[in-house]
Amino acid sequence: HASPALEPSTLGPSTPSPQTLGPSTPSLSKLSPSTLSSLTPSPLTLSPPWPVLFSDYSNRFTYHDIASADRAQSMDGVIDFATGSPNPHDIPDDLLRDVSLHAFSSHDFDGQPESPIEGFPELRTLLADHMREDRMIHCSPRNVMVLSGSEQGLDLCVRAFVNPGDCVLVESVTFFPALQAFRSADARIIGVPTDESGMRTELLEGFCARFHPKLIYTIPTFHNPTGSTMPAQRRRELIETAMKYQCLVIEDDPYGELHYGTSAPPTPLKGMENAGYVIYLSTFSKTVTPGLRTGWLIADTHVVARLAALRRMVDQHTSSSSQRICIELLRGGRIRRHIEEITGAYRMRRDAMCDALQRYAPPTARWSVPEGGYYVWLSLPEGQRSQTLLEAARPLGVTFMPGGVFDVDGTDTRHIRLNFVRPRMDQISDGIRLLCAAMHGDGRR
Ligand code: PMP
Repeated sequence: HASPALEPSTLGPSTPSPQTLGPSTPSLSKLSPSTLSSLTPSPLTLSPPWPVLFSDYSNRFTYHDIASADRAQSMDGVIDFATGSPNPHDIPDDLLRDVSLHAFSSHDFDGQPESPIEGFPELRTLLADHMREDRMIHCSPRNVMVLSGSEQGLDLCVRAFVNPGDCVLVESVTFFPALQAFRSADARIIGVPTDESGMRTELLEGFCARFHPKLIYTIPTFHNPTGSTMPAQRRRELIETAMKYQCLVIEDDPYGELHYGTSAPPTPLKGMENAGYVIYLSTFSKTVTPGLRTGWLIADTHVVARLAALRRMVDQHTSSSSQRICIELLRGGRIRRHIEEITGAYRMRRDAMCDALQRYAPPTARWSVPEGGYYVWLSLPEGQRSQTLLEAARPLGVTFMPGGVFDVDGTDTRHIRLNFVRPRMDQISDGIRLLCAAMHGDGRR
């Protein structure tokens, strides 16, 4: 889509165009000849030839259907198992109001309207403490870089490390924007097979020997889209293989703090090595709200310095206001109390979804029961296709993400991703019942 700032309708009063005529405009027959002639298309009102003007690079990225699907999903009445962000009702408005009041009435930041590019020192320190206490990652604040969302970290890593043709290994289904980021650099993306315990690291040595990857991108904990978690032994294998082949690892961990089991998930990869091979990314988008646009990265100081230099070209720093709010959220453990609250609610939603699937799904459907995060990954009964099911489910008021969106080569038709966090608790059972009726194709509602 063209940017609104470039639409002809904003060219100003000297170049009126027929599109700009609003409801109060008199009918064309009542206009004077001079006004009429100014309304006839002239070179000044012809739209710019966008496809020619946009760069070859940008023409490669047409906006994926996901964006329009997302908009449809947020419509009232639709039971939304598709969107990958929290339900707006779960965003802690009271907490945010309270911490904002503190953040903006304290004088701690007087004279500091802008932040250093790596983030306010206090936030970097609080994040290092938080990561040590909650994620067993020991790092200095100098290793922490505050980001405008963790996706920015991914983009910076791609710019910093990936040359055209470099090989990047990923889980065979993975976070769609990560695939886009690697494609943008003309990387050669290779999917490593996965099972219910994540990437099959016993195959990694073979992939590394054959493709000499520059990077391995992984979501080892509560994976998007599969919900799987890589056990400690596989994590060790992954790090050892990466180090043997001098390959960097990007560990994307937006969901690690949302665990519903009795014990915490295994230590993140970043907590298992000190050499600097692992670059860790996380975010407040899943635990608080994506609207804060605040994430962080933990990496070797060389990496932090290089990424800061690249970032300076497009973004000076993460919003000072968001950073001040995050400082208050982390101070005194307020975020931890909030996460405890939402994990209680999210655990109930996961259980509601899995119970409903147990009850309504066809006997040959298979699904994961995730220990944390947002997603159930469901394998459809033989012969069913995710896209056909989506078309059958939409008129019933239910949506989900077809697996092909996350697939390295886009060919998956057998899986669907169901977000159990996004809908309200009272919608889950009904939504699954309707979805399964569409799966049975027998009109059972
Ligand atoms: N990585 C993964 C695996 C995600 O699922 C998401 C959110 N959908 C992100 C990154 C994006 O996080 P942020 O909003 O901080 O850019």
